[in-house]
Amino acid sequence: MKRTRNVLQGILWILIYLLLTLAPILVILIGPRPQGREFWREFSVALGFSGLAMVALQFVLTARFKWLKAPYGSDIIYHFHRQISLIAFGMIFTHVFLLMIFSPSNLRLFNLLEAPWRARAGVTALILLLLMIAVSIWRKHLLIDYTKWRIWHGILATVAVILAMVHVILVGHYINTPLKQILWSGGGLFWVFTLAWVRIIRPIQILRTPYDVIRVVPERGNAYTIEIKPVGHRGLKFQPGQFAWLTIWNSPFSDAEHPFSFSSSAEQADHLAFTIKEAGDFTQRIKTLQPGERVWVDGAYGAFSCDRHPHASGYVFIAGGVGITPMMSMLRTLADRNDRRPLLLIYANKTWDGVIFREEIEQLKQRLNLQVIHVLEDPPQGWEGERGFISQTLLERVIPKSSRRNTWEIFICGPEPMMNAVESMLTKMGIWWGDFHSERFNLV
Ligand SMILES: Cc1cc2nc3c(=O)[nH]c(=O)nc-3n(C[C@H](O)[C@H](O)[C@H](O)COP(=O)(O)OP(=O)(O)OC[C@H]3O[C@@H](n4cnc5c(N)ncnc54)[C@H](O)[C@@H]3O)c2cc1C
Repeated sequence: MKRTRNVLQGILWILIYLLLTLAPILVILIGPRPQGREFWREFSVALGFSGLAMVALQFVLTARFKWLKAPYGSDIIYHFHRQISLIAFGMIFTHVFLLMIFSPSNLRLFNLLEAPWRARAGVTALILLLLMIAVSIWRKHLLIDYTKWRIWHGILATVAVILAMVHVILVGHYINTPLKQILWSGGGLFWVFTLAWVRIIRPIQILRTPYDVIRVVPERGNAYTIEIKPVGHRGLKFQPGQFAWLTIWNSPFSDAEHPFSFSSSAEQADHLAFTIKEAGDFTQRIKTLQPGERVWVDGAYGAFSCDRHPHASGYVFIAGGVGITPMMSMLRTLADRNDRRPLLLIYANKTWDGVIFREEIEQLKQRLNLQVIHVLEDPPQGWEGERGFISQTLLERVIPKSSRRNTWEIFICGPEPMMNAVESMLTKMGIWWGDFHSERFNLV
């Protein structure tokens, strides 16, 4: 029932998205159009308008509206965001390119010193979009810090959309009737509301539901679990496997938030835990947190949860390293619920010493119908378990045949190469892609 509702909701959002991106073209078709303009010129304008609508809708995609993300999950939305930015830029670029091809005299509009303001605004918006895309693609190669990049990404995108709107208003041909003006103003207001939601309304909501650190527990594998409790409110509800954005040492109005999967049981909303592996500046500071320090939590997000597949007859969890965190939340939750369905955990790590939650997983076998297979890249002397990496032979051998008849659900989380390899192995094994679910720790 829940799955059908999600699918229907997912289809509905896609239809609304298509309508909103095509709406500008429909709006152009309503009412009088400039006389004597050839097809290519009108076509190029249509591309420009649709491209602009797509860019403006990017703000909605990344605004973390829960109703929008629920059917797909965050990584699919971010993947779409990345792909659609290329398509939108392609359309806007083609809009400009066609105008140049069919009227080469328009090339003079690129001279920003002498061009009219409508062209200055349009060309600057185009350059900003190009800059944003290039920097986003090559951010890691350019060694740009994620937080700084994110702040500038937001600023440049906002300025680009405002300039593009200024361009549309100054050109003026297509906003010349009251109906068009109402439609454009409505779109503009919705965009402003989205900005206000992200920058003002949501941070205020987060400020009103603070959490305090209870303790920080060192784990194996350079990881630390921070346990937090709600202060003055009842805590948030989440589905095991989901994640939240944490802000520590900063205000929710800053952009300094980081995503982490819940590692605690969803049955204990008054006590949240996140298990965080040291990576860069932020994660290396986690161990210095003291009891009583303030934490802001924005969540829960994501579609990576056994609760989204309640009718499965069993679950397979395939984790690598710190990718165990969402699985741990699911295992702890299922144990708290006395769930007796068969569970299989395939857990890959480099060394035995670095296996996060090793002891607790062993204990969970007492409370769950759980089989655990550790796969070690660099096993200790005398290791009799699986060695190397997760292979298709291993998956063929250990994943129950019944799981291939769509009755089990499979969850994958770990390093990118492991996830890509496992997804391809499962596909080769004939498992339908709808029956396995992936959580990627690199949204950007
Ligand atoms: C859905 C999801 C769930 C996650 N769950 C966990 C978890 O349970 N445990 C865990 O240890 N890690 C988890 N991560 C990864 C964690 O968010 C990053 O390791 C952390 O943000 C790195 O921050 P840093 O400043 O310490 O490292 P850096 O060295 O600055 O960053 C390393 C990389 O992490 C990513 N990153 C950095 N900052 C952010 C940010 N603010 N937002 C998004 N991505 C960022 C970027 O790709 C960056 O290149 C999760 C990530 C996602 C997307």
